[in-house]
Amino acid sequence: MYDPKSLRAEDFIDHDEVLASLEYANKYADNADIVDQIIEKARQRKGLTHREASVLLACTMPDKIQEMYSLAEQIKKDFYGNRIVMFAPLYLSNYCINGCVYCPYHRQNAHIPRKKLTQEDIVREVTALQDMGHKRLAIEAGEHPSMNPIEYILESIRTIYSIKHRNGAIRRVNVNIAATTVENYRKLKEAGIGTYILFQETYHKQSYEALHPTGPKHDYAYHTEAMDRAMQGGIDDVGLGVLFGLQSYRYEFAALLMHAEHLEAVHGVGPHTISVPRIKHADDIDPNAFDNGIDDDTFAKICACIRLAVPYTGMIISTRESKAVRERVLRLGVSQISGASRTSVGGYCEPEAEDDNSEQFDVSDKRTLDEVVRWLMELGFIPSFCTACYREGRTGDRFMSLCKSGQIQNCCHPNALMTLKEYLEDYASPETRRIGESLIQRELENVTSERVREIARRNLALIEEGKRDFRF
Ligand code: SAM
Repeated sequence: MYDPKSLRAEDFIDHDEVLASLEYANKYADNADIVDQIIEKARQRKGLTHREASVLLACTMPDKIQEMYSLAEQIKKDFYGNRIVMFAPLYLSNYCINGCVYCPYHRQNAHIPRKKLTQEDIVREVTALQDMGHKRLAIEAGEHPSMNPIEYILESIRTIYSIKHRNGAIRRVNVNIAATTVENYRKLKEAGIGTYILFQETYHKQSYEALHPTGPKHDYAYHTEAMDRAMQGGIDDVGLGVLFGLQSYRYEFAALLMHAEHLEAVHGVGPHTISVPRIKHADDIDPNAFDNGIDDDTFAKICACIRLAVPYTGMIISTRESKAVRERVLRLGVSQISGASRTSVGGYCEPEAEDDNSEQFDVSDKRTLDEVVRWLMELGFIPSFCTACYREGRTGDRFMSLCKSGQIQNCCHPNALMTLKEYLEDYASPETRRIGESLIQRELENVTSERVREIARRNLALIEEGKRDFRF
């Protein structure tokens, strides 16, 4: 029985409710009155239910789709301004006991080199990331109780936070590790993590079980209920995602929003972020072997509809996507992107050799961080290295209320400018620096509070003198 408040996966992601939503969506997809009403509701910045959003996703009327795209762009601007938060993944270990059929780290893959970073390796990798200018990482590891126990993850987080190379620092570590216990989530929270990210891969139970034939990840309920355990463990910023290509995208989309509604209903706060990965080629993985691949137009529509449905949730796009696709979805509500990512263990210090296929997936956007930063600015965005919110205790519903109050313009906006200034001072090429300096001067005028603007101006001057880490 569908019940968003239930703690049972099969109730809050009720299969029949997903199917009924898709039927509803098919029925009204091209009904202009209904579609207009739903767009109007989204325009009120109230978000949409999974059924309403599913109608928009199914809609094929070109003028309505265009309207959705313009609105998605506007909503993103209203709540997140023109800032784009930057991050990079850090692969700690590719030892894994699961049998995920889409992932090259699956246990049966006997020829992929297995690697696990020592704490010394982590120092080298993080130093390389700091030297690029990164301040925010997402750590990734396969599931392996003896090779990657929680103690290893916690020790690695401590190491990452302790490294200070020149002016560098990693100020926020997000964690993408396998579903675990409330106790372990509590330990992660105490270690000072930012967001706990776990992709559902697919919400379709039968497919989920077939795609995860062996290992602990096979347990659909344990995986799907992980975010509830994370929240019980005190982590109130959680990141959802599905791996598009595994199942019908419309099924995944409805269920993803049902998951968000469930978190809101039970814990009073929805997901902090939603990621939209698409399956990619990797060592022994052929994306064409999966029947549900989506084209770029569909992908863009999914991003726009997520933005309309959950206006306050951050949306993340990785380097799985090309520059062109990233450029397109940045205009449809994406708020966070990775840059200069390496998806192999140890890849920042030792880039993959041609014959070494140990990347988790092929990266499409291979540009340097400096190139990505410059490109964002040329497109009119502010690349932000800000990590202030969780360090100021603005997590969960406190972050959401800041977002809703519109105060973000006096908080996140100057923080973005100050962290961009640090980047320009410490890491940028001359051309990027030139573009960035004039952008900061321009954007400073958009800080609405005169007092905040003055403080920001003063801090920017102090950054030029060598001081670091200011925040509102
Ligand atoms: N092992 C952890 C887990 O079970 O969630 C960590 C996650 S893994 C390092 C990060 C994500 O990469 C996975 O959740 C999956 O969605 C994605 N991924 C795996 N194989 C992929 C592929 N071939 N193409 C694109 N993304 C992939």
